[in-house]
Amino acid sequence: MEVFAVDHHIWAIDHELLGLPGVGVTYVVRGEEIALIETGTALTVPQTLAGLEALGIEREAVRHILCTHIHMDHAGGAGHLAEALPNAVVYIHSSMAEHLANPAKLMASVRRAVGEEAWPLHGEMLPIAAERIRPAEHLHLDLGRDIILTAIATPGHSPDHLSYLDHKSGGLFIGDAAGLAMDRWGLAFPVTPVPAYNLEAHRSTIAMLRTLNLPRIYLTHYGPHDDVTYQLDRAAHRLDELVDLVERALADGDPDVAALAARWVPYPPDGPAGVVARSWTQMSVAGLIRYELKRRQATG
Ligand SMILES: [Zn+2]
Repeated sequence: MEVFAVDHHIWAIDHELLGLPGVGVTYVVRGEEIALIETGTALTVPQTLAGLEALGIEREAVRHILCTHIHMDHAGGAGHLAEALPNAVVYIHSSMAEHLANPAKLMASVRRAVGEEAWPLHGEMLPIAAERIRPAEHLHLDLGRDIILTAIATPGHSPDHLSYLDHKSGGLFIGDAAGLAMDRWGLAFPVTPVPAYNLEAHRSTIAMLRTLNLPRIYLTHYGPHDDVTYQLDRAAHRLDELVDLVERALADGDPDVAALAARWVPYPPDGPAGVVARSWTQMSVAGLIRYELKRRQATG
């Protein structure tokens, strides 16, 4: 577990997502009240709690837990955190609230999406009492001391995806809305996962993000980045590459997901982040194939 300052009122706890540093963070935003952004998985919660302790934050002081979307690495730890942080409520897009209250169906779907190699790295979600779950899509959260967070819809990666604008810094907690950039592992690509990825929405979201002229983005995978235009351009470019690969493979017949993923994002199979690279790129190839086949079916 590693804690680092991100802005004068924002810290990041590296909670060792999927067992590695440099893959996932929970952000801590401090006004008079304290908010966490992103929960990691059930298995990263002990590191997040250790990070809060290292920052000198009492568990009772955390009042808000914001999830950008329902995926396990963003909301999977919400139930465990809610149990450990007794005064916190959990925010997520209202369309997904039922999955936090009753996660069994979601976990089965995630297991199919991430594959058997990566599944044991995700842990079991705990249900959250419905009265502690809040709709996030119109969030305007005043934490005191001029720290205000508001939600912006950023669908595509998933239909429920929200990003949270920090009005003080102008930075955006961007979740997976425009791709990941894990500099420590040399991995940077947009994630386009099964089952609900939407290419058209994703491209619109990246275009919308460009118009915001953001000074910073706070990536969940991983950390703050000030080169926002570069990050958005690269995500758009790598997305185009994947679309091209998938379209050609579909035209040729039966696409080989693992081979396409390795061509799109070459990474040494025995490299330290091999499981992350394989799981997230293969999930992306599968997600885009599924999107493309559904789209073709719909347009006949
Ligand atoms: Zn993610």
